[in-house]
Amino acid sequence: MNSDARGGKQCVLLIEPIPSWIVDRAREEFDLIVVSHESDRSPEVMENLDRIRGIAMPGFAKVDAEMMKLMPNLEIVACFGVGYDGADTAYAAEHGIAITNTPEVLTDCVADLGMGLILATLRGMVDGDRYVRAGRWVNEGIMDLTNSPRGRCLGIVGLGRIGLELAKRAEVFGMTIAYYNRSERDDVPYPYYPNAVALAGACDVLALTCPGGEATQNLINGDVLAALGAKGYLINIARGSVVDEAALVAALSDNTIAGAGLDVFADEPNVPEALFPLGNVVLQPHQASATIETRTAMGNLTIDNLAAHFAGRPPPNQVV
Ligand code: NAP
Repeated sequence: MNSDARGGKQCVLLIEPIPSWIVDRAREEFDLIVVSHESDRSPEVMENLDRIRGIAMPGFAKVDAEMMKLMPNLEIVACFGVGYDGADTAYAAEHGIAITNTPEVLTDCVADLGMGLILATLRGMVDGDRYVRAGRWVNEGIMDLTNSPRGRCLGIVGLGRIGLELAKRAEVFGMTIAYYNRSERDDVPYPYYPNAVALAGACDVLALTCPGGEATQNLINGDVLAALGAKGYLINIARGSVVDEAALVAALSDNTIAGAGLDVFADEPNVPEALFPLGNVVLQPHQASATIETRTAMGNLTIDNLAAHFAGRPPPNQVV
């Protein structure tokens, strides 16, 4: 029963964007306050702070210690996403607030977009589209030749669930795999490198599938990009915070790396305007998990985690 001591539904703050049909399901289960992530301190939220027992939010939304402190009866933050770097885990752990996420259900879609970005970037697919639409095929003839992934090495920073699925897809396209994690895995045949610079120096395409947050802030800096080199490509389907964005813009502008495929950015939805005129970068609006099927599964899992908690059961995906 997702009801409070007075027999009513538990009050949950739902921070959008979350699909409308998931919001509808949440409304059936909880006493819902719905806000956008830009207005999470709206008057309706501020007037109900002591009633809020749960939060449902996209993994990239910010629920920091300052916000949690405002809600004296907060018990659980259910992240709609596998990343939960938007929530202050230290504060939550200290104050007995559970944090949950939605692993597994999004792994395939995110790996698919990662592989799509590798192909789009190396094969110039978005550039090709622009070339046709601008009438350049007719006027200038065939466009410049592109690069095959076959025979190239994919270096994966963060060989976890998504990284492994990306590796499988890349192998189908004839790529070899290497990786860097904090710990070497004993269950994969791929060569391990002890840091991001060493991996970047050894691979042709560097793909990021590690978590965001303080531990990986600017992990991919100017030194890593220099090691990747003028023939190297960067693919980021992790978090914008993992990359020193100024260093990346400089490397793409100066062609000190060959190109990049980016789904995530440091200050979303703001993307550095310096990237817009560049032909060697493919840009996506943080949409790796954004299929109807996957977002539905993520939404249902988010609600299931909240419902389990309020029914007195351990949430299935508790990470804190
Ligand atoms: P996972 O299974 O936990 O894998 C994470 C991997 O990163 C692990 O292999 C881990 O190995 C490694 N790692 C963790 N901290 C690290 C560090 N400080 N330095 C280097 N490697 C580190 O997670 P997942 O389900 O694959 O998801 C990975 C990330 O993808 C999420 O956290 C999220 O940020 C991102 N993501 C993005 C989208 C999108 O829309 N673009 C969608 C879903 C997920 P060790 O513990 O051995 O270091």
